[in-house]
Amino acid sequence: MREAFTIGGVTIKAGKQAQVDLPIPNLYTHDPMSCPVYVIHGKHPGPVLFLSGAIHGDEINGVEIIRRVLKRKAVHQIHGTLVAVPVVNIFGFISKTRYLPDRRDLNRSFPGSETGSLAARIANIFLTEVVSRCTHGIDLHTAAIHRDNFPQIRAVLGNPEVARMARAFNSPVILNTAIVDGTLRKSAEKLGIQVIVYEAGEALRFDEVAIRVGVKGIIAVMRELNMLPKLTRSAGTRDAFEATSSTWVRAHKSGILRASKTLGMRVAKGESLGVISDPFGGDEEIVSASVEGIIIGRTNIPLVNEGEALFHLARFANSDEVVAGQVEELQNPMDPGTELNPAAELPNVQVLNR
Ligand SMILES: [Zn+2]
Repeated sequence: MREAFTIGGVTIKAGKQAQVDLPIPNLYTHDPMSCPVYVIHGKHPGPVLFLSGAIHGDEINGVEIIRRVLKRKAVHQIHGTLVAVPVVNIFGFISKTRYLPDRRDLNRSFPGSETGSLAARIANIFLTEVVSRCTHGIDLHTAAIHRDNFPQIRAVLGNPEVARMARAFNSPVILNTAIVDGTLRKSAEKLGIQVIVYEAGEALRFDEVAIRVGVKGIIAVMRELNMLPKLTRSAGTRDAFEATSSTWVRAHKSGILRASKTLGMRVAKGESLGVISDPFGGDEEIVSASVEGIIIGRTNIPLVNEGEALFHLARFANSDEVVAGQVEELQNPMDPGTELNPAAELPNVQVLNR
């Protein structure tokens, strides 16, 4: 029999599951606070995978992704262990903000400490109670408020195990990025835990396509890690576009932006992305792509100040044809990724290329 799994002082026997509420600092109104963790501890040995959502409190797509993953029947029969934390930054989630009440960014506060700031204390609790007990992890994010991200995995592809997870996820884009100090990913890497980040959609909004790509991606990674049975028939995996670098196109002047290109579109160097005009009817100037690539992020606010980031472009090493085919596919409504009634779900599908 497999050994029991202990988290937050609760012991879960092999073949059992439990919700464990990790205590975090209380509110000043005396209200007790906790961070709910759902553990499925399989009968059979295997990887211990964490899923984390809302480390940035307003990035809610990941919360819905984790809810749908936990609704899957097969996930309750896994090999190994799943540790799902839908909302890591409970304080930010309640107040619908990215940050903690001490105005710190939780994803710049790792590894944290027992005696540091509120952000540092929560980082420390999450790292010691959850992350350090795992072998693998998938951290779910969206773009910041008033920005939108095309579904993408961020990972260090030089690490073969991370690269295997990143490619299995089957998102349209993989950005091979260096890891920023203070992030969960940095601390996990130091502990030898394999972590990828999924970025898709916008803060404070549900994006149906981003959510479905996320649910399918997590299930596909669990199959790759042998936590779930491999499919006898291929689910249609294909090469993602692996970008080795990305760049932001910024506003060269203040004004009103009318974007003519959107997420997932491929653009040539020098191609027009939109126009910045004067609100009083004066000058109009074209914003053009600084490099050839795919638009993986954009601003949703048309009112821009000089220097503001407008479009995030990823550069690709892959062939042009592959890029075009994949992006077209994502612009169609996707197959329902859950047991939900597709007829009830499809009218709300947000098509990326509006
Ligand atoms: Zn984030």
